Amino acid sequence: MIYTADWIVTQDAARTVVRDGAILVRGDSVAAVGAASDVVAANPGEQTVSLGESAVFPGLVDAHCHLPMSLLRGRGDDKPLFAWLNEDVFPREAKLFPEAVRLGAALSCCELARYGCTSFFDMYMLEENVFAAADEVGLRGVLGENVTRFFPQLGGADRDALFGRIRRNAEAWRGHPRLRPAVAPHAPYTTDPELLRECRDLALELACPFAMHLAETEDETRTTLDEHGMRPVRYCDSLELLRPDATFFHCVHLDAEEIALLAERGCAVVHNPASNLKLASGSAPVAEMIRSGVRVALGTDGPASNNSQNMVRELWLAALLGKATARDPAAMSAQNALDMATLGGAAALHDPSIGSLEPGKKADFFAIDLGSAPNAHPCANPVSALVYAASGAENRLTVVGGREIWRDGEFLTVDWAELRERFDRVAARS
Ligand SMILES: [Zn+2]
Repeated sequence: MIYTADWIVTQDAARTVVRDGAILVRGDSVAAVGAASDVVAANPGEQTVSLGESAVFPGLVDAHCHLPMSLLRGRGDDKPLFAWLNEDVFPREAKLFPEAVRLGAALSCCELARYGCTSFFDMYMLEENVFAAADEVGLRGVLGENVTRFFPQLGGADRDALFGRIRRNAEAWRGHPRLRPAVAPHAPYTTDPELLRECRDLALELACPFAMHLAETEDETRTTLDEHGMRPVRYCDSLELLRPDATFFHCVHLDAEEIALLAERGCAVVHNPASNLKLASGSAPVAEMIRSGVRVALGTDGPASNNSQNMVRELWLAALLGKATARDPAAMSAQNALDMATLGGAAALHDPSIGSLEPGKKADFFAIDLGSAPNAHPCANPVSALVYAASGAENRLTVVGGREIWRDGEFLTVDWAELRERFDRVAARS
């Protein structure tokens, strides 16, 4: 299959943008990218889809989300993190059941795909249901069972049962073409040193990525200093959690030494601008992290603290917030923001097969309509159009591993009306 479009933004090392370009897809991968005339001439008889006045980009990566929390969207807005978790989130999560988790995740996968996101890094409970939902919708992802001292009834009767669940998921989904397991303790303040060490060991044993919320709020810094005598990143380093297979969500409150440590250990960090602003946690030192060599990705942090999972909104916000924080319009360019949401996302998911459109990479991409949407017209530069002008609603096609998930207003892998009806039934009980 060949897709042609006015612009192909490849995100390769030279950040090549092809005018009047084409992508040749073979199986689940990109076989060629180049001028449409060349690609079509070199592949006579190949079926061609013309996307016309559109710009094609590598699929966006939501590198931090809690997909089933669409069930809690709009519950407990306008509160600080700890009050929101304790009053609105944890009590509702204690009542969750497998079917609700699956349908919440399925609805969120549709939302991601609708706005051009093809991959995600999820952390939640009863995660086998998120695997099932992502498998059904057809997205790519890394999925970690949320490990905390709270709610053992959801994960298992005790720590052994919870770790047994992680092992079962790892076994059941190993070798899947799109879905991979992770070990994901929730945060320093909802775990203890022993539990964190056990999670670290398990991730190494299962050869899975390790992920955790870290340094999200000033309260967390105070609590970690009080309980462990160290700032959060230092505390994690003392437990040997910082390794190249680790991804840390947020990292808002860091000193220079902690930024250097994250870079030195080769960790990935996920920036969640909307969630950090909504919960008034602050704004992460993204430009400093990137300058120091930390691999930074972009995430939504899910529908309960954002409350959107539209990664195009996140691109816009990350670019603007980065400028305002540094008081420098060049501190975070449109290209920097897109890099975080694509190549940075690949680093955070520890998946070098995604993040750019090049031969051999996975055929994960989306297409923004630049012709019929007045806000995206005219297009002087497709990266600028996506980051600064688009809303995400202009997306007309989402492809994951060569398979079309969303096209011209329709979900192609799920029955949206039926899914919504079933979701509404379980959401009413959540
Ligand atoms: Zn989160």
